[in-house]
Amino acid sequence: MDHAEIIRWLREEDPEILTELWARADEVRRDNVGDQVHLRGLIEIGNHCVRRCGYCGLNASRSDLQRYRMSRSEILDCVAQAVEYGYGTVVIQAGEDPAWTAEFIGDLVAEIKSATPLAVTLSLGERSDEELAGWRSAGADRFLLRFETSNRRLFDHIHPPLPGKRSDREAMLLRMADMGYEIGSGVMVGIPGQTYEDLARDVETFARLDLDMIGLGPYIPHPDTPVGREDSSGPDQTPATEELTYRVMALARLVCPLSNIPSTSALATLNLAEGRELGLLRGANVVMPNLTPQQYRPMYEIYPSKACIRETAQQCHSCMTRRIESLGRSVGSGPGSSPGYTARSIKASGDATCVR
Ligand code: SAH
Repeated sequence: MDHAEIIRWLREEDPEILTELWARADEVRRDNVGDQVHLRGLIEIGNHCVRRCGYCGLNASRSDLQRYRMSRSEILDCVAQAVEYGYGTVVIQAGEDPAWTAEFIGDLVAEIKSATPLAVTLSLGERSDEELAGWRSAGADRFLLRFETSNRRLFDHIHPPLPGKRSDREAMLLRMADMGYEIGSGVMVGIPGQTYEDLARDVETFARLDLDMIGLGPYIPHPDTPVGREDSSGPDQTPATEELTYRVMALARLVCPLSNIPSTSALATLNLAEGRELGLLRGANVVMPNLTPQQYRPMYEIYPSKACIRETAQQCHSCMTRRIESLGRSVGSGPGSSPGYTARSIKASGDATCVR
């Protein structure tokens, strides 16, 4: 799909014309990753963060937020729940926090991999190659790190660098792919200062990075953050709407047919009644039920009024299962790796028979 066509779809607002985009995305999703919806159990292990990301409610400048770190045994209890619910994957996510040492995370991953059949996804911010390689050797399967925006100037504005450390998330993702990780990334839709051109380039970047997972959500302003207080009324400003997020999601499916694309909590936050379902009908094929213990959920406040902060893990599990089945789709079993990654690994192992 060329740049002009991506821009045209991003700007399309006619619901009748958009039915064509939804139908194409749904068909490509079905043909490439099927009707099974894989469940990724999300464990938000802590909300301490050393970064000052202008959009995020966990940023280090917030002195009013109560902070937590889960203990190893609390994390392993959540992992046991994932196994009990039949999930194929746990996603271990936190703010960027050096207290999660190479050793602690490495031991945790090794323990999960030896005691359970689960795939392990890490989402711990920007970490050194040494740490990433160590966690991969310990058995970590996947890493999620959104590049947030492909506009370098906007990225530096919303994501101030640490002293002496310039972020290059794309380069980090490519190095992780070389280490053998399945790589996941994505963007927020409607960040103040983001234009349609930026968003089109984001979609092209998904394809260029050959992402195994693409996480997308509307930007939701947090009033206690610098970007949350910014005016976003420029002439070419993208709106932070549910509708535009679906368009980006459908385009992501068309340019990366084999990717796993979650229908995210940020979508459910804007439309609790049917945001998840509409995501699954417009390109998405996985969901991430929350396993974080109830007492910590309100503290993982990356944006306000986040969906599901009052629910228990059991409630999230039943709710997701019901929503998936209401669409005539089924809950997936097994790790649910991206078929693109599977083909890449077979190629790397030298088995020529299965390469497409
Ligand atoms: N520390 C990890 C996890 C961050 S939270 C990391 O840096 O990767 C996961 C994602 O939440 C972020 O990548 C960002 O895209 C999204 N997010 C943060 N603040 C948000 C906001 N105000 N609105 C919508 N999404 C937000």
